[in-house]
Amino acid sequence: MKKLRRCAIVVLGLVAAITTLSISTVFADTSVVDTTDAKYSYADLTADAKALAKKYSDRCRLSSLGKSWDGRNIWCLRIGSDNASRQIVVFACVHAREYINGPVAMAMAEEYCKNYTTKKVNGRTYKDIFSHTQLYIVPMVNPDGVMIAQEGLDSIRDKTLREKAETYPVSGGYYNWKANARGVDINRNFESGFNDTTNKNTVRSSERYGGTEPYTEKETMAMVNLVKDLNCQAVINLHTMGQVYYWGYTDQTKEAEERLVKIVSEEAGYTGQLETGNGDGDAEHYFRNITHTPYVCIENATGGYPNDHSQFTSIYEKNVNIPVRTANAFRGEIVKKTDTSTETSKEGDTAKKKLKSAVSLWLLPPWIALVIAVACVASYLIWTRIIDRPGRHDAPEKRRRRRPAPRSTRTEHDRNSSKKG
Ligand SMILES: [Zn+2]
Repeated sequence: MKKLRRCAIVVLGLVAAITTLSISTVFADTSVVDTTDAKYSYADLTADAKALAKKYSDRCRLSSLGKSWDGRNIWCLRIGSDNASRQIVVFACVHAREYINGPVAMAMAEEYCKNYTTKKVNGRTYKDIFSHTQLYIVPMVNPDGVMIAQEGLDSIRDKTLREKAETYPVSGGYYNWKANARGVDINRNFESGFNDTTNKNTVRSSERYGGTEPYTEKETMAMVNLVKDLNCQAVINLHTMGQVYYWGYTDQTKEAEERLVKIVSEEAGYTGQLETGNGDGDAEHYFRNITHTPYVCIENATGGYPNDHSQFTSIYEKNVNIPVRTANAFRGEIVKKTDTSTETSKEGDTAKKKLKSAVSLWLLPPWIALVIAVACVASYLIWTRIIDRPGRHDAPEKRRRRRPAPRSTRTEHDRNSSKKG
């Protein structure tokens, strides 16, 4: 009977441990991208991009668009089918100090990969949408600049490059760095309106210093070369100044541009600012006026630099649906804001979050649950085998009577008396 009881306790302990482990696994946050990291570095991005491409190898591929001046890769994640006939491109971190957009872009990539076959927009899964219009995400166009803004000039590994950069003026501190490692504002290094000097500086590392001529920077060329080889339907460039979006159009792009900014306006809720003319060497006038690609620059955050990371969730939520809705819209349809299936998915997420938070009140981390379960079983076994052995609670005399005297200590007299019976 006692054996049966012990077995039952052991089985119960194991069942409790396995159940706890299973629930923990279901609700554990298995995300690759750490969105709480306020200094999401080039190394973080590299590790996460590789992890996403490995984890979701059937839907996400990683390649380098080339190297920066300090030898860092300009990573590009391709989500969807390589056989898609059209593409859209998302750039982030062109400006160094706006590095909060790096993890925003990476978290978007992870959202699409993770929910590839389950979440829907306008009745279509991410998979369906990105199979027709592939998404290219370049989460850190300017990795050297980001590292300068995060860690200062010690982050520049090339001695010559670093020594030159030490001679460039710094406004406020390196946290305020906007350019690449050569002090060039990539967003002023394009050809459209390059010679317009009205709003530009001539000193390296100053705001809006565009270089000696267009396209001198490797980071600029990474963007140019990527888009020129694609059937690109839209370029979305993430920046962080002022919660506004900049847009414009040519005769060729007007209808598509309006479709694009309608989505941005609905999702982000920012004010649109129409830009005309040829620009001043910026990316938007290059893509729009020269490549005739619909383009929007989304300025996400408020406040100074570094951007307050508490804005991350809000920025992410304002941006996450923009690429997928854009990709869907450029299949030839305008996607309505009130999209039932997307909203259902959001409700599903909220319900899961609530359940997760309720469960987390009593849920223990798996290793603690295991330790407790093992400790319970071990305690019981010790109790029953050592402390609770037969006769433990009997009176001392009784126990003495039960215990036979050891064979070796029995005397001749004892043996005789037993014979007598
Ligand atoms: Zn910017």
